Amino acid sequence: MESPAAHRIIAIDGPAASGKSSVARELARRLRFVYVNSGAMYRAMTWHVLGNGVATNDVGAIEQLAEKANITCHLRSDESVMLIGAVDPEPFLREDRVNENVSRVSSVPRVREIIVERLRRYAQSNDLVMEGRDIGSVVFPETPYKFYIDASPDIRASRRAAQGQRDRIAARDQADSSRRASPLIIAEDAHVIDSSNLTIDGVVGEIVGRLKLKGLTIPA
Ligand code: C5P
Repeated sequence: MESPAAHRIIAIDGPAASGKSSVARELARRLRFVYVNSGAMYRAMTWHVLGNGVATNDVGAIEQLAEKANITCHLRSDESVMLIGAVDPEPFLREDRVNENVSRVSSVPRVREIIVERLRRYAQSNDLVMEGRDIGSVVFPETPYKFYIDASPDIRASRRAAQGQRDRIAARDQADSSRRASPLIIAEDAHVIDSSNLTIDGVVGEIVGRLKLKGLTIPA
C-alpha cells in the first residue's frame, strides 16, 4: 500500500495571524511544491454548517452533516481547493460568522477525521507545503520538516486589523490550544520562528536555510 506521505511535506503550524499563510504560500512557490491551507478546509466546513442552519454546539448534527457533505478536493494553480457540492466557498471563508464559529466546528473529532483524510490524500501525489495547527503533530508526524511560526499577540492582532477583519484571535487561540482533539501544540521536533520582527521573506529565508541544512534541494 502507498504510504500516506509518499512525497515531501513541509509542515507549518502556528496560532492565528502569525503570518503562516503568506509564508507557506511563498515557500511553496520557491520550492515548486503544492500549497495546502488546511484552515481553509475547516472554514469551508464551518460555512457549510452555518449555511445549513446547524447549531455549532450540536455535535451530533455537525457530525451527520460532515458525513453527508459532498466534499471534493483538487488543485488550482498549485493550491488546494475544496468544493462542497458544486460550490467553492472561498469567497465566504473570512466572514465574521465563520471566524466566530470555526474553532467550535473544528473541535469536533469526526470533522477532523474527515478533513485529515483529505489532507493526507494530497501527499500521495504531490510535494506539499501545508499550513495549519496540527500538521506536524498529527497529520504528518513523520515529516522531518516541521516549523512553528509565532508572533507576539499585539503584532498578530494588528496584522488582522490591517486586513480589515473582525477576528477574536485570542479566543480562537485559546479554543484551538485547549481542545481535546488535536490541539495546537509545538511539535517536539519543530523549529520555532518568532515572526514579530521579520518580513515574510525573512521567515521564508530562515525556513529555506533550515531545509538546506536538512539536505533538501532548493530550486535556483
Ligand atoms: O488558519 P486559520 O486561522 O484560517 O484556521 C481557522 C481555524 O481552523 C483555526 O482557528 C482552527 O480552529 C481550525 N484549524 C484546525 N486545524 C488546522 C487548521 C485550522 O483546527 N490544521
